[in-house]
Amino acid sequence: MSHPGTSRGGEVPVPVTAELKLLRVALDVPLPTLFDYLLPEGMIAEAGDRVTVSFGRRRLIGVVVERATQSDLPRTRLKYIAEVRSDAPRMPADWIALIRFLAAYYQRPLGEAVVTALPPRLRSLRPLPRDARRIVRRTDAAPASDSLKEGAKRALLEILALAPLGENELIKAAGGTPGRSRSALRALLAAGWVEQTAPGAGTRFVPTHPPTPAQSAAYERIASATGSFRSFLLHGITGSGKTEVYLKLIAKALERGGQALVLVPEIGLTPQLEARFRHAFPETVLAVLHSGLDDAQRTSSWLAAARGEAGVVLGTRLAVLTPLPRLALVVVDEEHDTSYKQQEGLRYSGRDAAVYRAKLADCPIVLGSATPSLESWYNCLGGRYERVDLPERAAPGAHLPAVRTVDLRTEPVERGLAHSLQRAIAARLARKEQSLVFINRRGYAPVLACEACGWVAGCDRCTARMVVHSVDRRLRCHYCGADEPIHRSCPTCGNPDLRALGSGTQRVEETLREMFPAARVLRIDRDSARRRAELSRNLEAVHRGEADILVGTQLLAKGHDFPNLTLVGVLNADAALLSTDYRSPERLFATLVQVGGRAGRREQPGEVLVQTRFPGHPLYAALARNDYAGFARRQLDEREAAGFPPYLFEAALRAEAKTLAAAMGFLARATALAPPNDGVRVYDPVPHVITRRAGLERAQLLVQAAARPAFQTFLAQWCERLFAEAPRDLRWHIDVDPIEFD
Ligand code: ADP
Ligand code: ZN
Ligand code: ZN
Repeated sequence: MSHPGTSRGGEVPVPVTAELKLLRVALDVPLPTLFDYLLPEGMIAEAGDRVTVSFGRRRLIGVVVERATQSDLPRTRLKYIAEVRSDAPRMPADWIALIRFLAAYYQRPLGEAVVTALPPRLRSLRPLPRDARRIVRRTDAAPASDSLKEGAKRALLEILALAPLGENELIKAAGGTPGRSRSALRALLAAGWVEQTAPGAGTRFVPTHPPTPAQSAAYERIASATGSFRSFLLHGITGSGKTEVYLKLIAKALERGGQALVLVPEIGLTPQLEARFRHAFPETVLAVLHSGLDDAQRTSSWLAAARGEAGVVLGTRLAVLTPLPRLALVVVDEEHDTSYKQQEGLRYSGRDAAVYRAKLADCPIVLGSATPSLESWYNCLGGRYERVDLPERAAPGAHLPAVRTVDLRTEPVERGLAHSLQRAIAARLARKEQSLVFINRRGYAPVLACEACGWVAGCDRCTARMVVHSVDRRLRCHYCGADEPIHRSCPTCGNPDLRALGSGTQRVEETLREMFPAARVLRIDRDSARRRAELSRNLEAVHRGEADILVGTQLLAKGHDFPNLTLVGVLNADAALLSTDYRSPERLFATLVQVGGRAGRREQPGEVLVQTRFPGHPLYAALARNDYAGFARRQLDEREAAGFPPYLFEAALRAEAKTLAAAMGFLARATALAPPNDGVRVYDPVPHVITRRAGLERAQLLVQAAARPAFQTFLAQWCERLFAEAPRDLRWHIDVDPIEFD
């Protein structure tokens, strides 16, 4: 263990005594090592404590990871721990074990892993504030929010109609000026239309529905594992009531004095879900953790979890890194979702980390999905996970929508919409039902081109085209965020007649408005919903029936329950069929099931129309039969034949540099540095498909192995050499179990 910056003058010399205690501390510094410090006599610190130490000229907060019996440093160079922090609870042993596991598995320094897991506020020297989390809820005296003229009050009541919220979260969600929202809140409190309560600690469970027999059976099977580590895959079709099963299992965990950890994909965390949890557990402290929170909110949720106050922690990927002293149940909803994989730094899979976590806590874990990841499905086939099925929709009279392909080769198409899709939308309008048109591409058009000379607007910093955005007349790069006005004429030949080719959500919105002038068209994508509050306002509008046709991306595909939606039209799905990424079919199938699952969630039957040039494709056939198992079987066969995960283990070594030659050169050198290992195959380096991104040239090479332990040893040895040998001006990383290759 090295200890830089210790030989400066003015230090207190360390007395040499036999009882000196030595601790290894993880620090937020870019060095792949832990740091040794001495514990002054009379001070108590254990693994899991946050401590203040001096490092060079700075003071830093670190986490004690373990005790040590000896140091590589002479005693005279060792420094004392300055202070043990007591403003947050000590991290439990299973937390340290989890972070250690992740650091080793994903080949990152332990210090970095610790830093990833702690909210920024817990890494700063400032003491934590006293916790004053007060929950604001609407009372029965509150009038209907649309009867209010004043915008700020109305906004608050609208938000609270969805769920009670912490005061700070509420002010944040309201958008606008915080000062005005706060005075509006005071006025609402004075009028008795809202009330403030301290969060309680009760475990009362309010079920929404009496469970169906299938839900009861699923519950009973999983509940039988209470108190022991078992992994369940809850394979339930969309609308089958998986969430109700989770809630009942959580109730059981709470009743036994435990905490439940519930992970959801980034996109799925809408106010509706939060509201459902608050409704189900009105007296339980619910700690919500996602990327939309500011530092103070994240800290307060984290502390509520770590102190054991929160009965339920509901959050995205990063919530899996929260200390939970009484963890008794883990749920991963939409377990196939790619947002569970972190794409920078510690590139962990939140789902896989959750399984390990459940193992450490010796509690059951439920992975839920209508379209499980092939990895999880494979784990069921191999008996590592137990499969539990919910094959029917839960709501009375609700059935899966009928899925049909629309043959683009034979049907007339106008501006991207086939006649049968147009007719289907018109029929919904006549019946006052809602339609959803799905296109997984935001912006107006993906290409701006000059038909006279062939020029195409490209991004200077990426190997990518600029996307036309019509709303504010800009060109944007979806890879690096570059943003510029739309050209008036061709920069090469001067032709003023530039063409926007292809379509994205904005163009589809425009087309639908023109085709159905009487219909209310609402577009929902990341451009229309930059902030959570905007998104939830739009979704509420849909719920209230204020939109007839929705146009949207992935953002609309997950989790939302629109009772009056009976038609889903899917545009340009074929693009994914033509992709070279072997995971592409799996993702397309999942997306189509998800988006199709928005239709027909009540009595009226739903219909899904997929526009395609390949109507006979087996993927669409499996989709139409609602045959996930058949689809998975075929995909797994293909992967086995081609040698892909889950039949093999993979890692990618990636490099980014100013020149492609530098990146490729490093990878070639890395190949030479690879430790000898029979079971590991190192492929040749190749440039990324999007070679240049944000001004850097990128290349990668793939490593595959048949056995996990040998692979981990290989990667650890290789990484050590790479850390030592990599040039300073080059960015590189290893991605273990990578899921994206562009
Ligand atoms: P999933 O998470 O599997 O997509 P949800 O739990 O969101 O399904 O349930 C889908 C819909 O069915 C929701 O509107 C929910 O209120 C309803 N639902 C769930 N369970 C029942 C039940 N036992 N009886 C009636 N409706 C139910
Ligand atoms: Zn031109
Ligand atoms: Zn770019």
